[in-house]
Amino acid sequence: MRIEKTNDYLEGVKCIVNTCYYWLEGNRCSAEKIEIQPRNATTSSETDCATFRPADSLRA
Ligand code: SF4
Repeated sequence: MRIEKTNDYLEGVKCIVNTCYYWLEGNRCSAEKIEIQPRNATTSSETDCATFRPADSLRA
């Protein structure tokens, strides 16, 4: 499902992935919602934002 980019940002989410389509200055995320995966992760480095899209591959 395509996640919409909003004119706002997700309160309480700090993201430094500046190559993401949803990323905003100030380390903010403008996605309407995000999904983190995978289930049964045991370390933080195993987890990823599944909502990530490369900034240059997706035009609004
Ligand atoms: S979608 Fe995920 S990777 Fe992209 S800016 Fe938001 S939190 Fe960061």
